[in-house]
Amino acid sequence: MRFLFFLILFLLPFQPVFAAVDVALRGQNPVHLEDVYQQDSNIYVAVDDVLPAVGLSGYWDSIAHSFRIKTSRGWALISPASSYLKIADNFYPLQDKPRFIDGRLRVTESFIVNQLSLLTGRSIYFRNLDPDTNTKPEDDKNGLEQFFAFLLNKKTPSSGPLLRAVAIDPGHGGLDTGVVSASGVKEKELNLELAGKLAKKLKMRLGIPIYLSRDGDYEVTAEQRLQAAAHEDVDIWLLLHAQSAFGAETQGVTLFIRPEGEGRQQVAQAEGAVAPASESMQLARELAKAMNEAGIEVLGIIPSSRLSLGQGNLPTVQVEMGFMSNPGELEKLQSADYQNQLVQALYQGIQRFAQLSEE
Ligand SMILES: [Zn+2]
Repeated sequence: MRFLFFLILFLLPFQPVFAAVDVALRGQNPVHLEDVYQQDSNIYVAVDDVLPAVGLSGYWDSIAHSFRIKTSRGWALISPASSYLKIADNFYPLQDKPRFIDGRLRVTESFIVNQLSLLTGRSIYFRNLDPDTNTKPEDDKNGLEQFFAFLLNKKTPSSGPLLRAVAIDPGHGGLDTGVVSASGVKEKELNLELAGKLAKKLKMRLGIPIYLSRDGDYEVTAEQRLQAAAHEDVDIWLLLHAQSAFGAETQGVTLFIRPEGEGRQQVAQAEGAVAPASESMQLARELAKAMNEAGIEVLGIIPSSRLSLGQGNLPTVQVEMGFMSNPGELEKLQSADYQNQLVQALYQGIQRFAQLSEE
């Protein structure tokens, strides 16, 4: 079948060749797709054309402004102009952002070959039938490698204040709304509101500089978020988010930190000792303790390889402040009382962590 098709192509070498691709699970008959666009030397294929070709299905969720893909591991999400594939609470980096072109959300070869094989558990056959775009220049290996190389290391001075500066990242912004509740509340707005209040409290109480990666409703690149944390005097980096779950009952705060370093654990094992907790873990524990004392439920501290946390040893915690899928918790998250309580607990946790570092 495929052979026949190539034969026809071969026999008609002077016919104008329009952009088209063949996609399939490896070993199966390829599906021929012609609604294909070329942009920035990439081929963009509509995601709802590609999914059936590899045995998946999905739909555009106009409320969450993302495309939901049904997989055996649960729902996977991609959003226009977002650099991540989200599966449950894990974020997987994308080489190319999905784009809306001609009314359809479209993905590139990299997504089809890499992410769809992750989602199907099978390897994917992809062939670009337009020879003009087959030679993709290997110039900029995109920002992702630079992103990975971006090390956030604590630059502790020998003397000076316990806490020199704090960086806060209000998650999402602009077109990237984050979670949108059933009632239409956008996560990006909650994150910004809480970040502003926390920044104000820290400035007033501690008199130190606070670096916000955004102070309004606009889109921020992953690099820009990391840059706010990369200031010379930053001793703590907090990322503020809110999440959603399938069930409306799920509630509470979850704290994410980078995976505890394997290298450190090996050294500790060799010495017959337990590896000391990373500073991020210590910070997360202080935050959790302060929140528990304030009556705020903390579900756990989870070491996670989510890319948004960057790399290095800068004490960093991503605070998932609550579940917007829980109407009661959402209402609390929007109330000034609860916001102040949350901010006060975060402030206390930060302060105790700083005192701990001094000892
Ligand atoms: Zn978020």
